[in-house]
Amino acid sequence: MVKLNNNFNNLVSNYLFAEVANRVAAYKKAHPDKKVISMGIGDVTQPLAPAVVQAMKAAADEMGVKETFRGYGPYEGYDFAREAVQAHYASFGCRIAADEIFIGDGAKNDLGAIVDLFGPGNLVAIPDPVYPAYVDVNMLCGNEILYLDGNRENGFLPAPPDRAADIIYLCSPNNPTGAVYSREGLKEWVDYANANGSVILFDAAYESFIQDPALPHSIFEIDGAERCAIELCSFSKTAGFTGTRCGYTVIPKALERGGMNLNAMWTRRAAIKYNGTSYIIQRAAAAVFSPEGFSQAKQNIAYYLNNARVMGEALRAVNIEYVGGGNSPYIWFRCPGGIDSWKLFDLLLDKANVVCTPGAGFGKNGEGWCRLTAFGDAQDTRTAMQRIGQVLGELG
Ligand SMILES: *Cc1c(COP(=O)(O)O)cnc(C)c1O
Repeated sequence: MVKLNNNFNNLVSNYLFAEVANRVAAYKKAHPDKKVISMGIGDVTQPLAPAVVQAMKAAADEMGVKETFRGYGPYEGYDFAREAVQAHYASFGCRIAADEIFIGDGAKNDLGAIVDLFGPGNLVAIPDPVYPAYVDVNMLCGNEILYLDGNRENGFLPAPPDRAADIIYLCSPNNPTGAVYSREGLKEWVDYANANGSVILFDAAYESFIQDPALPHSIFEIDGAERCAIELCSFSKTAGFTGTRCGYTVIPKALERGGMNLNAMWTRRAAIKYNGTSYIIQRAAAAVFSPEGFSQAKQNIAYYLNNARVMGEALRAVNIEYVGGGNSPYIWFRCPGGIDSWKLFDLLLDKANVVCTPGAGFGKNGEGWCRLTAFGDAQDTRTAMQRIGQVLGELG
């Protein structure tokens, strides 16, 4: 009889967004007249930039002409796409070689695939609260997880633990908290990883939301990171590619462990398991980092950050403590009056007709907090925050 992966039975976090959707659907069914505003799901709403659409159409036209048609592309991505990402890194002072950049179909896929580089028996450090995929991927391969507590005291930016972890996941700007590591904070992690022979998997999906010039966009802004870190990034939040699908993973050639080179291993893996990202999509992605495309993408980011500003002001007006917002599309706020996060979720749905995400769904340290996203429509965001402010004000 076939042996299945029993680790599927150990998964839990699946439940979060399904449960949110169930409760919202039940509420809408019972109250068809109410206009419910969602600030729950982390998906973008602004359309693709004109420069991106133009590049996509031009590439589609090329595919329909014999002379310019393309079949299988390079597994690691076309040079033009790798060079566009390289130039983006250079724009904030990171010198990355084009062959250290791998173009893929989104960060989530690479986050799941990256475990191919590692053997069994690693101790994996994962912050709590966190983006649920890191935990689930490691549960599926049966890895031991060491949770790193994020809390009010450390601003949801855990420092290295006393124990030596082999693999470390960091996400900055963070989903769900919106907290961003400083250079000093990342330097501690880089030094820890180099001292212990660990590898850091750095999720930079929200780097383009960083406005404060003192904050690092990439772990490769930190000296020594090229010897201990892999960075995963995506066009999803930078340029509205959540449905278009394109991301990139950076593995420095200087990253070696036990005589093995991780860049060479990932190159080999791509040849075995991946036949490349669509030419049309890579053209669209490269256009994001053209001067015109990037200025259009930045307008959308400014739109979301303006929502975040409105959200922060509304919370401050009723003395609700929060983190995030200024350099990220997420605001992570404290539930007033000791109420738990699912209870507050129900209350905001019922009294304000607004959907948030209960912090408990992101890990045990998320209890007592809720996440709001700035990815919505500007007018809806204002309306939602007026309603939320009223409810929270009465509770606090
Ligand atoms: C949205 C998101 C990603 C991006 O995933 P894609 O597969 O590229 O769409 C990666 N990490 C985090 C933390 C995210 O929130």
